[in-house]
Amino acid sequence: MNSSRRGFFKTSAFAFASSTILSAIPLVNVNTQTSKKLKMTFRPYTLDLKHVFTVATLSRTTTPVVLVEIEYDGIVGFGEASMPPYLGESQESVMAFLKRVDLTKYDNPFDLETILRDIDLLAFHNTAAKASIDIALHDLVGKLIGQPWFNIWGYDKKKAPNTTFTIGIDTAAVVKEKTKEAVGFKILKVKLGKDNDKEMIESVRAITDVPLTADPNQGWKDKFYALDMIHWLKEKGVVYIEQPMAKEKYEDHAWLTERSPLPILADESCQRLSDIHSIQGAYNGIVIKLMKCTGMREAHKMITLARSLNMKIMFGCMTETSCAISAASHLSPMVDWADLDGMLLIKNDPFIGTTVKDGKLVLSEGAGIGVKKIS
Ligand code: MG
Repeated sequence: MNSSRRGFFKTSAFAFASSTILSAIPLVNVNTQTSKKLKMTFRPYTLDLKHVFTVATLSRTTTPVVLVEIEYDGIVGFGEASMPPYLGESQESVMAFLKRVDLTKYDNPFDLETILRDIDLLAFHNTAAKASIDIALHDLVGKLIGQPWFNIWGYDKKKAPNTTFTIGIDTAAVVKEKTKEAVGFKILKVKLGKDNDKEMIESVRAITDVPLTADPNQGWKDKFYALDMIHWLKEKGVVYIEQPMAKEKYEDHAWLTERSPLPILADESCQRLSDIHSIQGAYNGIVIKLMKCTGMREAHKMITLARSLNMKIMFGCMTETSCAISAASHLSPMVDWADLDGMLLIKNDPFIGTTVKDGKLVLSEGAGIGVKKIS
């Protein structure tokens, strides 16, 4: 850390601590702080998937992302927007949004609340684009402070949970092969919602006895079928269910949750902080994803609110590089379950950061979100 950065950190630390204390210190280096500028650059990047990925609604072999860098005082923070097709964003829409963002007008990178609120108000939706800025700014601020975010938030990184590894919908033979490849994972997530639900589970169970989670991705059309399936899935060692039916079906989900022997989590029906109140009562918990909720800042607030409402929390992801996965992992010590396997599903990860060892998320000690660029 050079001397000017140390001075900056001291200034900011005092600003965090107390404005009263700050006003009593005559030699605060405010001029150095205000002369620096935030500078953002970004580029499109295509993730190549190791396997064709099939869920109830579609199949694909690539995922488009946009990689973001935000620089301040020689320090670079990394961010990422990942755009699976169903979110409605593309590389073009993300880059068009990022071009509208002028970070040079902010003199204080620590003022995340102001910067991210302004960016959120720029346009409706565009949540992945907003998340890419949020992640890069959090990475930058963590590096300026010299601490990883699990320390800044006060979490014990050893409490990071096991992550599920996702088995997409496929033939029995392919599902068995994928399950064999998932050796070492302590919990697996099985995609359901087409016409082979029981075959999917039986194929996985032919290979392993580890606990399972099930995600029909809104694919179940009928609440009576859903309830029957959930009872059957419980007998097969499934521990929770994501988004059984269409996201609009509040009453049907409330009916199902009241009777279900397993927790029912809202994924597609809970995107952002403001959705939690509207789905409360119809689900036992929520699935948080950075690309849905605009990033780490709002995800942190969602965890706090969901906990206060006694709701379960799962932290999920898209197919993403180690950049966005590492960012999410810094919140994982506070959730019940994690599905942060996105970087394991791709062939061309340009970062290293949070890894998975014996099925458990292992956070690096690096400052910010703890990632290094490797290509
Ligand atoms: Mg899901």
